[in-house]
Amino acid sequence: MPELPEVQTILDALTPLILNREIQSVTPLWPPVIDRPERVLFQQWLQGRRVIETKRRGKYMLFRLDDDRWLILHLRMTGKMRVVNASEPLRPHDRLIFHFSDGDDWRFEDQRKFGRAYLVEDPAEIVGKLGPEPLSDTFDANYLARILARRTAAIKSLLLDQRIVAGIGNIYADESLFLARIHPLRPGSSLTQDEIAALVAAIKTILAQALTEMGTTLRDYRRPDGSTGSFQNSLQVFRRTGEPCPSCGAPIQRIVVAGRSTHFCPREQPLHG
Ligand SMILES: [Zn+2]
Repeated sequence: MPELPEVQTILDALTPLILNREIQSVTPLWPPVIDRPERVLFQQWLQGRRVIETKRRGKYMLFRLDDDRWLILHLRMTGKMRVVNASEPLRPHDRLIFHFSDGDDWRFEDQRKFGRAYLVEDPAEIVGKLGPEPLSDTFDANYLARILARRTAAIKSLLLDQRIVAGIGNIYADESLFLARIHPLRPGSSLTQDEIAALVAAIKTILAQALTEMGTTLRDYRRPDGSTGSFQNSLQVFRRTGEPCPSCGAPIQRIVVAGRSTHFCPREQPLHG
């Protein structure tokens, strides 16, 4: 699933391709992709509109329209976007098409069908409950310490909770916990002040590096021009089960936390000090 660096990279590439272009009509090839409002209203409200601003919040892409409504998209597992001439043949998993009046299409393709589109007057309706952006100043050691003090769940699952911090998924949770040398199953409330500070710093470092490298390409992630990111070459533990830890040589271990594959160095990230 695309996480913060992938969503930001896609949005950065997409923005110049769609900004200020008039949407003439919308074709929902698979109508359930539209979460709200109902399909006919969704199509009517978008007719003749232009995207005048784009933003990312967590893993959501927000598109402000020239009537001040917001189109919001979430790619979930396999969502992809591209802008092509309307004469280009459709792909089997194309779900939603925005037709520009100048003859190009903005197409949303999604093999697994978990991606969703929303059209709302107030984006808070969709993104209002998200926690702070991990790269913002609001996300600091004081904030995280306050949250973790009351939480006994595994730190890995807390990092995946979008209400605590927005935009982190499986890859960057594992990589951040490794960089901070914290076992993914440690209860949130057991982390010391120093560990919390190290974890916040690790999250910011990892995400900033992944943004520079245009994200991690494992299977489905593609930028709108079909190109890939390169952070997969920088992964230290994620999907490296059994390989030597790049820092100490111990074999990387895999466990399941909150239903998700989790990778860590058993020597440098001990469960009990
Ligand atoms: Zn190690």
